Amino acid sequence: IFGGMENASAIFYFENSVTGKGGIEDLLAHEIAHQWFGDMASEKSFAHLWLSEGFATYFTNIYWHHKFGKEAFQKRLQKERVEVIEFVKKNDRPVVDSLSPYMDLLNANSYQKGGWVLHMLRNEVGDSIFHKIIQTYYGQYKGSNADTRDLQRVAEKVSGKNLKWFFDQWLYRPGIPQLLIDRDIDKDEVKLRITQKGVKFDFPLEIGILRTDGSSLKETILVNSQMIEYKIKVPDVKSVIIDPDTKLLYSEIKK
Ligand SMILES: [Zn+2]
Repeated sequence: IFGGMENASAIFYFENSVTGKGGIEDLLAHEIAHQWFGDMASEKSFAHLWLSEGFATYFTNIYWHHKFGKEAFQKRLQKERVEVIEFVKKNDRPVVDSLSPYMDLLNANSYQKGGWVLHMLRNEVGDSIFHKIIQTYYGQYKGSNADTRDLQRVAEKVSGKNLKWFFDQWLYRPGIPQLLIDRDIDKDEVKLRITQKGVKFDFPLEIGILRTDGSSLKETILVNSQMIEYKIKVPDVKSVIIDPDTKLLYSEIKK
């Protein structure tokens, strides 16, 4: 612990104000995560700062999940999502950013969006593959330096999936999905029209459908074009919840 805090004490105090959460426990968890990511396996250049800060942010959330449960974990993700939404309104730089000076990279792109990218990678490949990716990445780069494409290569090798599109859209392009969602809910049918108002992203969008008898179901919509129309017949629909399990980094635009 002290090694990490010692060699990064300026960062330590700075991050308390960046992350803005005020608590000492999440700051400690963040610094302990840096024992693995940031100190032992660090980024090749500041453009890839999220490999330290996004990892420390997300691993703090995972610690929160273990200690305080799923709801507390999702609350943190929701708060961080709001911080990213606010940040990207005023900033159209990608997370991997070689143009901004170092101090300007201590921002919600490197921290909160970087953390969210790991969360979405985890949802893309599943828990056990995600853990294997992190272990392999750490094993391969501890004591040395990696960049974002190195992490991508590890993730692709371990998962057996092509993830270039994922890394490109979330890390090498600015912004997040800006969704206009028209809801047309009948008693026995749900119709949604999802329009991406900004740059097109590809992502699974989960919806929760609540029924009048108190039961519920979840469906996943693959959004891969600028506009998608989705409908499903379900008896006795009461309401629809978008992204019920906090899996997607997006903002919803109201008409
Ligand atoms: Zn940090």
